Amino acid sequence: MKIKLLAASVLSLSFLVSTTTLAQTAPDYDALIKQAHQKYKNNNDGKVADYIPALATYSPQNFAITIATVDGKIYQTGDVKKAFPMESLSKVFTMALAMEQHGPKEVLDKLGANATGLPFNSGLAVELTKGAPENPLVNAGAMSTVSLVEAKDKTDRWNKILNNLNAWADASLTVNEPVFKSEMDTNQHNQALAQLMESYNSFYGDTREAVEIYTRQCSVDVTTEQLAKMGAVLANNGKSPYTGKQLLNEKYVPQVLAEMAIAGLYDGSGKWLYTVGLPAKSGVGGGMVAVVPGKYAIAVYSPPLDSAGNSVRAQQTIEYVAQATQSNLFLAK
Ligand code: GLN
Repeated sequence: MKIKLLAASVLSLSFLVSTTTLAQTAPDYDALIKQAHQKYKNNNDGKVADYIPALATYSPQNFAITIATVDGKIYQTGDVKKAFPMESLSKVFTMALAMEQHGPKEVLDKLGANATGLPFNSGLAVELTKGAPENPLVNAGAMSTVSLVEAKDKTDRWNKILNNLNAWADASLTVNEPVFKSEMDTNQHNQALAQLMESYNSFYGDTREAVEIYTRQCSVDVTTEQLAKMGAVLANNGKSPYTGKQLLNEKYVPQVLAEMAIAGLYDGSGKWLYTVGLPAKSGVGGGMVAVVPGKYAIAVYSPPLDSAGNSVRAQQTIEYVAQATQSNLFLAK
């Protein structure tokens, strides 16, 4: 009897040990992203953005996935060599720069942290709040963020913004000139938003300069690997797992992630948080990044967008991987 009991407790102990080890084993990221690629590559829902004419030239078939972990590992599949313009993804990193310079209180006071519930370039949203952009991730707030960056002059402002993007991506990023030109030729709406905010004193510099630099930062090309590495800085408390540099004060990281949770997918942000439970950001070039604090960032590129301007396959892929890795932030861990 005693022996049986002993055997049973040894057995349950070894079960406990093996389940604990299992729980600690890293998920098979490589298998997961390949499964997601296979599962969603033939989903042709959504439409490639064409309100910026140069974006309409990108193939709807492009599809790439990269996971970058806080311990510096990279897993990727698909068209990972294809670069794409960051567009609104750039807003996150310039917001982080402004926060690093001015601190979270000033970002909250001057740029806000509320959802607009309206499209990313809504003029009505600015009008309803008498110029408060509500958050730094809609166009109005992002242009206001550019104007808030501390700089000596226009060249210095651009250099600070580009150097910041480079540091986060661990790369020398370049501006996609045809995209920049195309967007400069068609950005009257953004100019109007900037002037509307200026009329309410919610702009902190020259509107022309800020709109041009904002447009330039949106035209910076990245690959999913570079974007995932940028996200991994946020997952790793503001320190790049690749260069070891602290790029954002560790204390400010939760505020950056909160802004992403509030407005990263524009008027699709609430549904995204409800469904997936992760801070994320999209861009109309088809890129998207989501951050799992302490673990990994996932970047996906696929140009066809839903009606709010978020990549369809990117949302599906991230949801798939997040569910398989039980990454929803609202789950008790
Ligand atoms: N550059 C684009 C614009 O200003 C960015 C929009 C986006 O990616 N949602 O319209």
